[in-house]
Amino acid sequence: MTLKIAIAGVAGRMGQSLVRACSTLTDCEIVGGTERPGSGALDQDIGVLAGLPPSDIKVSLSPAEAARHADIWIDFTAPVPTLASMTALDTTGVKAVIIGTTGFNEAEDEALQEFSKRFSIVKAGNFSLGVAMLSALVEQAAARLGDDWDIEVLETHHRRKVDAPSGTALMLGEAAAKGRNAPLDDLKTPPYDGITGEREAGKIGFSVRRAGGVIGDHEVMFGSDEELISLRHTALDRNVFAKGAIRAGQWAIQQPVGFYTIRDVLDL
Ligand code: NAD
Repeated sequence: MTLKIAIAGVAGRMGQSLVRACSTLTDCEIVGGTERPGSGALDQDIGVLAGLPPSDIKVSLSPAEAARHADIWIDFTAPVPTLASMTALDTTGVKAVIIGTTGFNEAEDEALQEFSKRFSIVKAGNFSLGVAMLSALVEQAAARLGDDWDIEVLETHHRRKVDAPSGTALMLGEAAAKGRNAPLDDLKTPPYDGITGEREAGKIGFSVRRAGGVIGDHEVMFGSDEELISLRHTALDRNVFAKGAIRAGQWAIQQPVGFYTIRDVLDL
């Protein structure tokens, strides 16, 4: 079956990567895409925008119009437009929604959960298979190593990234907290800055770097007084997220409505 996809923010870095990734697959077709009000990409051909042959599909302002022929909606934009699109999709035939957008606050996350009564939703701070595996390993290590092992999550991204720590770093923090049987909110340290006092045992710290064009680098460090363990993932090509999101879409379309993670998709 050919998966019919509409893409939010189709002129963005991830939007374009999704269009190119889909063009290399035989069971996937882009049927629409949106951009923000005022974007120079509006009404342009989606294929041409991504450096491909013309597709005869124009970038639209309206999610409902872009999703008219779509089975799934893939969204890598920002929290406010992601939520607005979900409301607009209600009257369409879209069955599954794949959310790669990061930086949702608690209230926005709760609002997203509500939409899982209508769609099968897969939300992931990182759609790479390697990061899903890393997250499973982090949970296991955190569960087996005692509280005398400090946990630090380190991440590096390109200078244009607007949220911190990255969605992936938070996802890895959540995996570590799950291994320790506690919510991340209880274990997360505030950012280290100034006179912080000694590090509290059992807490999870975060360090953030922003430089150049780094696609995404994540490391989880476990440290005792005598030794260190580092588990690390580096994304070499943005394509990895696009391929993972499309794979999640192929999986989600076959699931009942509900809220899923990338680990559900990969059965990890
Ligand atoms: P980007 O800025 O290049 O692209 C975002 C696009 O969304 C832009 O083209 C923007 O014009 C568009 N947009 C904004 N408001 C809109 C609206 N109302 N309607 C339609 N389009 C709108 O950013 P990016 O690097 O592609 O990242 C986008 C998001 O995806 C960020 O939150 C980022 O952290 C996240 N991300 C997630 C993963 C993952 O695997 N989950 C990977 C990479 C990036």
